[in-house]
Amino acid sequence: MSCANPIDPAILGDYWLAELSPTDELTVEEHIFGCEDCTQQLQSVIALAEGIRTLARQGNLGMVVTREFLDRLDREGLRAREYAPRAGGSVACTVTAKDDLLIGRLAADLSGIEELDLALCDPSGRERRRFRDIPFRAGLSEVILNYPIGLARQSGPDVLVMKLIAVTEQSDRVLAEYTFNHTPS
Ligand SMILES: [Zn+2]
Repeated sequence: MSCANPIDPAILGDYWLAELSPTDELTVEEHIFGCEDCTQQLQSVIALAEGIRTLARQGNLGMVVTREFLDRLDREGLRAREYAPRAGGSVACTVTAKDDLLIGRLAADLSGIEELDLALCDPSGRERRRFRDIPFRAGLSEVILNYPIGLARQSGPDVLVMKLIAVTEQSDRVLAEYTFNHTPS
């Protein structure tokens, strides 16, 4: 039992999210129908995606997400509280009992960037957490972070500085900083 031409897991993910073109969808469908390997692979992709969505729902997952992912959660009725400070700017933020997700949208020019980190820092510059080599696509003009809403709910007044960092072999270069001034609701 081994597929000679396995379907890429990313394509299986898009298939499950119904984001393929009708032609591609049909191609994948026909292949999976006759392929036990790829059927199993699809099942594990679905299980993983469900796991991620459950975590995101519970608000416990700090991760970089796509607009498409947010749109899907929105269609499922989840309420996202979004903050989008401009580069170099700051925003006053909070979280309420009605919110399901807490989203930071960081606008940045990502053209020519090879590798990108996102650092969460104290105002003094000390890093609390760094997301390394975060996913981004050429042509994208923002990075979207799903901040763990459970953490935010427990937090007292706090100032969090997010930094987008272009990483090369030689150096780290801060592209932009965004300051979140959190007040409990
Ligand atoms: Zn196959």
